[in-house]
Amino acid sequence: MKDTNFIISLNHISKWFGEKQVLNDVNLNVKEGEFITILGPSGCGKTTLLRIIAGFVTPDEGVLEIDSKMMNDIPPYLRPVNTVFQRYALFPHLNVFDNVAFGLKLKKVPQTEIEQRVRKSLKMVDMTDYEWRDVDSLSGGQQQRVAIARALINSPHVLLLDEPLSALDHKMRTDMQMELKAIHKNLAVTFLYVTHDQEEALTLSDRIVVMNDGVIQQIGTPIDIYNEPVNSFVADFIGESNILNGTMFKDKIVNFLGHDFECVDEGFGENIPVDVVIRPEDIYLMQSPNKASMFEGIVKSCIFKGIHYTMTVLTDEGYEIIIQDYNPFEVDTKVSMIIKAQDIQVMHKERLCNEFEATLVDETHLKMLGTTYECEAQSIYQGEDVKVIVEVDFDKLELLDDFEKAEVIGDVRFILYKGDHYHLTVMTEGRVNVYVDTNYVWDERDLVGIKILPKDMRIKFAAE
Ligand code: ATP
Repeated sequence: MKDTNFIISLNHISKWFGEKQVLNDVNLNVKEGEFITILGPSGCGKTTLLRIIAGFVTPDEGVLEIDSKMMNDIPPYLRPVNTVFQRYALFPHLNVFDNVAFGLKLKKVPQTEIEQRVRKSLKMVDMTDYEWRDVDSLSGGQQQRVAIARALINSPHVLLLDEPLSALDHKMRTDMQMELKAIHKNLAVTFLYVTHDQEEALTLSDRIVVMNDGVIQQIGTPIDIYNEPVNSFVADFIGESNILNGTMFKDKIVNFLGHDFECVDEGFGENIPVDVVIRPEDIYLMQSPNKASMFEGIVKSCIFKGIHYTMTVLTDEGYEIIIQDYNPFEVDTKVSMIIKAQDIQVMHKERLCNEFEATLVDETHLKMLGTTYECEAQSIYQGEDVKVIVEVDFDKLELLDDFEKAEVIGDVRFILYKGDHYHLTVMTEGRVNVYVDTNYVWDERDLVGIKILPKDMRIKFAAE
């Protein structure tokens, strides 16, 4: 049965700009009165999703419903939503009152009603005494409040907010966050908020939608998302984390950092490769030697962060981990560490190696990633093209800054530090993701050549 409590329903929404798919099968139900935040890195498709709801962008696939009515063909001005933009988009030559009244005047609403509604709107954002001020004379935060008052004047059912605080300085931003929360609480309006700032999302939201590359990664309350990230992308994006390769040895025993640890997870099977996430505040530091110690290391850096200290520790087994503690430990101190079973988050790995679709075009050549590669002689080639899958381990791809020596070029999209190496997602020009383990330091957006040697390809028949 259909749940009528959802004010917004996105069903299988996809969007392409030219060849580029920016939203991929997005499904989301927003409850009435909810404060929901779409969070993700720059370019992940957040604004496009918001613009689809507002009606400024049309989806190529899928259905959008607002208030249980199909909205795909309804123009923006007939939708029960209003948008507050990053830049306040106020008219500089009009005062506060006229900025807020602008839409009502266009609609030829009677003057007495305009006055009532503007006053009510300004009251909601605590700007009652500012009606006759020039907007230029207001601070950034006050201008943003006027923009919100203007958006609220038509009593929209949904307020769409596109990074509305990004132009403000840190202090103003945190003040405005509190005010936005208060405004949301006082109005029975659904807020759909877009940001790339995870702290803002954790502070404001009833639920967070984490997006990457046009795909929803996880939807949950701030606490769920922080404590139970579903994959290493979410764990890395929300707060600081130690994300490490591990092996689930058996139920409740996981090996990482070169040691076996008790954990609370079961049902993975035996000797299964996993990702392990440990929040920096969940590693307990003690002066060495210490009887309770589970593993040891040396402090490499210690930075005061206001309330706690953030330290990097190089473990005796050669892993670099981050730890937060209220007490500082001096650089070069030998330390002992403990991790409790309930603080170890074990996750299935999304993949164990690269798997590329390819075609064997003769015994020693295949077409893959938009180019032709040499491979070791394949007896499965019998005179006709054969569809194959080529497996390549993450540490067998070489990244080069000399493109001449590489078969394919890509750009670095996502970097995960795994304690003793980096795990990179590189997107090729043909938009295939390639995953690489490396010890070299690359930056996001770097262009890299990708080299694969014939001996490092495992070639298998593609399943029909
Ligand atoms: P940011 O936080 O940087 O604003 P975002 O997550 O909001 O990013 P979008 O603005 O939705 O991302 O953009 C997603 C992708 O779609 C980007 O690669 C962007 O360049 C591309 N894009 C957005 N609008 C258009 C357009 N009108 N034509 C072509 N490409 C577009």
